[in-house]
Amino acid sequence: MSTSIASLQPLARIVGYARYVFGGLLLLTIVLLTWQRVGMEQVVELTGDHFQVWIEDDRSSSDGGASVGSIEKNGRDLVVHCHIVPKYGWPYCKLTFNLLKENVGMDMSTFDYMTIDGHYSGTGNPGFSLALAQVEEGLTRLDQWETFKVHQVDKLDLPADGKLRIPLKWFAVAPWWKDMAKPSMEHAAVNVDNVARVELLIRGDGKDGKHVFTLRRLQLHGKVIALNTLLMGLVSAWVLCAVGWLVAVTLSLRTELKDREAAIELLKEVNKALELEARDLAGQAHIDPLTGALNRQGLRAALMSTSSLLADPMAVIFIDIDHFKSINDTHGHDVGDDVLRKFANVIASGIRSSDRLVRWGGEEFLIVCPVTNVHQGRTLAENLRRTLHQQAWPVGLRVTASFGVAQHHERDAVGVVIKHADEELYRAKRSGRDRVCAHIPGETTAPAEAA
Ligand code: GH3
Ligand code: MG
Ligand code: MG
Repeated sequence: MSTSIASLQPLARIVGYARYVFGGLLLLTIVLLTWQRVGMEQVVELTGDHFQVWIEDDRSSSDGGASVGSIEKNGRDLVVHCHIVPKYGWPYCKLTFNLLKENVGMDMSTFDYMTIDGHYSGTGNPGFSLALAQVEEGLTRLDQWETFKVHQVDKLDLPADGKLRIPLKWFAVAPWWKDMAKPSMEHAAVNVDNVARVELLIRGDGKDGKHVFTLRRLQLHGKVIALNTLLMGLVSAWVLCAVGWLVAVTLSLRTELKDREAAIELLKEVNKALELEARDLAGQAHIDPLTGALNRQGLRAALMSTSSLLADPMAVIFIDIDHFKSINDTHGHDVGDDVLRKFANVIASGIRSSDRLVRWGGEEFLIVCPVTNVHQGRTLAENLRRTLHQQAWPVGLRVTASFGVAQHHERDAVGVVIKHADEELYRAKRSGRDRVCAHIPGETTAPAEAA
């Protein structure tokens, strides 16, 4: 049965591994979802040395403004001086961060919000706006500023602590840009996946005024992995593991089934062999080892398994070797055994294959003769008695036997006919041995004389 235990191992192994895999996946799912919610922050600093920055003012516009903007660095801070001169309808100073690297802008769609950390001092309202200039595929030409799609948030109020948070979803496509560029529907919607410039505008309130804005930090904030992307990834991982698990279980069950079938085949063969062996042993238990004749157990089994043995008429012949004790006493037990063996052989050779020879015990034998009446039984016994005379026995012995014959009657138990045969044998002994006596009801037969 070690085969079937061995065949269970692949499945048990898979179940064992799966526990780790699914447990690990569950842990990973919980950790990633929690981390995505409370952390996993991705911050891009626009101030600092990574991005080119410059200032423009309305003097460069086609309408010819007169506002003056300048920029200076104070440590890490950018200090913007802006003198708004309302010469032109929309005066401004514009601090521009260039995000283009090798003509490719920054994908801001994965970010959630921007933060400004700064300090304002000046006359009146600074009128901040933030703009994102997108390189719109199929529309923007890098050398034509008006083809960049402008997203804008206006009227930003800087709180007292100077820290402002601007969600990216606040940005809308600037109406003035739509009026100017007249984009088709597909280019008219918000799209910040390729942003070339971030622009911080100071507009004042349109009146003459001097503004100083110190920008300590301008940052983009987002998640390293967006929630949707993370969910998609996790679902894929779960589906992959589940499918892998199903495939592995199916394969290992198939292997196990094959192994079990092989084990069952093996078992069948072993059983068959054992059955044969058991039959052999049972056969041996029914046979007398010295003479090869049936023993009493064998007779019982033969009577039970072969109903034709009892078919009437049935004769029983009881045989007892004469003066066998003296053979033992004179020539030894081994010679006695030799005589017994030969005696059984001679008798077995003289009966039909349908008859059964039984060693009843010691030097007593019984022959069961189906389809034989007492007369036929007596003739057979007589023939056997004569045959014994013609044999050459060990150490030149002369061996004779006495015979008792009886016939079975339908209404009688088998024990009755054996008893009758035994009585006849006893009669033969008393009458001088080496003779046959038969039990014939209503007739007292004289024992056949020894010839
Ligand atoms: P009778 O003519 O009255 O039958 O005399 P007997 O000597 O044949 O009968 P008895 O019953 O006195 O002796 C039978 C002897 O058979 C006694 C016993 O030791 C011997 N015997 C029984 N079984 C075996 C055997 O397997 N081998 C040998 N060698 N002798 C056996
Ligand atoms: Mg005896
Ligand atoms: Mg005897």
